[in-house]
Amino acid sequence: MWAPLFPPICLGCERLLRHDRALALCSRCHPLQTRLPASLAEADGVRAVWSYDGPLSRSVVRLKFNGALALAGPLGRLLVAEPGVLNDCDLVASVPLHWRRRLARGFDQSEELSRWAIEHARRSMRARAPTLARRVLTRVRATQPQTRLDAPARAANVDGAFVVRRPEQVRGRRVLLIDDVTTTGATARACMHALREAGVASVTTLALLRAL
Ligand SMILES: [Zn+2]
Repeated sequence: MWAPLFPPICLGCERLLRHDRALALCSRCHPLQTRLPASLAEADGVRAVWSYDGPLSRSVVRLKFNGALALAGPLGRLLVAEPGVLNDCDLVASVPLHWRRRLARGFDQSEELSRWAIEHARRSMRARAPTLARRVLTRVRATQPQTRLDAPARAANVDGAFVVRRPEQVRGRRVLLIDDVTTTGATARACMHALREAGVASVTTLALLRAL
């Protein structure tokens, strides 16, 4: 038996849940959250299961902008709620913040989500847990927030924004890239491009939420 890593609390209303479950939403908050249909779960080369709306979007906003780091655990666990998510990878990397933003925030939310996802996989023993490759990708230039841009501008905004500093860390490995929120997938594709240039065996992206 393994003990839960934190008290099972609903991400929507913060009430204690009677049963510990991977989707940390109570019966009242659960219907407020959209699960993406299969056609949208896999789009633009990025996999995402949940829509950027409802209680989960508010949790991500609180994590990123209000420093609610305690939410990273239940949100990270959601990433591995689908069976087999970590089966085909050796390493987990995350879409990095620019160092100035990381410094201002005090943490990098996608790295935190990745760390917790791996921790849960390890605890649940459903899968051989991959290793977290910390800071394998570097954002070499600060980019504008993607939310203010249209699709072509988003791609241009992140083109060449990421590099792999130590290619030997990822060469020949199967990498799962984790992002918190994806919209057009432009940021993830720029990261995947940098990882392929560094010689990874394969790279796939999993985002917690997809903004439609
Ligand atoms: Zn609730």
